[in-house]
Amino acid sequence: MITASPTCPVCQSAHTQLWSKAPDYEYFSVRGAYNYYHCPDCSTIFIDPVPVELLKQIYPPNYYSFVNKGKNILVRLKEWLDKRFFKKILRRLPGESLSVLDVGGGTGWMLDVLKKTDARITYTQSVDIDEKARTEAEAKGHAYFEGTIEAFETTRKFDLILMLNLVEHVASPLAVLQKAETLLNPGGVIVIKTPNHDSWDARIFKHSYWGGLHSPRHWVIFSEKSFRLLLRSTGLDVQQLSYTQGAPFWAFSIIAALYRKKWVRINAERPIIFHGLFAPVSALFAVFDFIRRPFAKTSQLFIILRAKERK
Ligand SMILES: [Zn+2]
Repeated sequence: MITASPTCPVCQSAHTQLWSKAPDYEYFSVRGAYNYYHCPDCSTIFIDPVPVELLKQIYPPNYYSFVNKGKNILVRLKEWLDKRFFKKILRRLPGESLSVLDVGGGTGWMLDVLKKTDARITYTQSVDIDEKARTEAEAKGHAYFEGTIEAFETTRKFDLILMLNLVEHVASPLAVLQKAETLLNPGGVIVIKTPNHDSWDARIFKHSYWGGLHSPRHWVIFSEKSFRLLLRSTGLDVQQLSYTQGAPFWAFSIIAALYRKKWVRINAERPIIFHGLFAPVSALFAVFDFIRRPFAKTSQLFIILRAKERK
């Protein structure tokens, strides 16, 4: 029996090919493996079927972004790097006062970091599907909308919109980008961080488990090529594109590979991210990716978008 391969969600090509079969080795939230397909026409990787009715199940209560992170050395280092990165972006934004929107921003920890970075930030908004994040976000002075960015209605415009590790989690990255575009102030930018499958770790681990799939929670995974193609259907273009370290993906991939060999134990109560090896392996590969970053594509993309100039 020949079953037709699913249509590519980005370019609608019918020539997609099975790329990887990935169980949830991170939280064991579903049984069996999900299929990820590669589109040779636009180079997008996507999940099929999309587990859109299983949101409550695939984001369990111990999902890492719902759990309070202690301020260990890695968290502090990441905060310091983020601050440096955003300082550069903020410096380029004009205006006496700035509004910032964090899509998928939860309790607003990143908005806190930004506020400390630039005193011009006077309005901060978090949009997130997490119902438990509201109280803390509001207590810290951020406006909070519980729901998706597509459902978020406002007359306000933003100078900076963050979508950090967001577009890979949604069924239609295009709809999300188009919505964000309508919320931009003139001169404003959208900052995106998303996995890149055109990388060593993706190629090495696709036959076992590549952490960038975060299966079944990542639904669409881009490369630079496929992301640029997606932008053609928007009024946005790339101001800056760079690669950043994919240390967590290396760590998920390596620990899952050890688990498959039965050398380490992980289960629903003790997800990979809480495994004793996670921090040291992440640290090792953060250094590895940092060293090779000037000459190799690492597995996360950082993209800054702005509105296309109208001719
Ligand atoms: Zn395609």
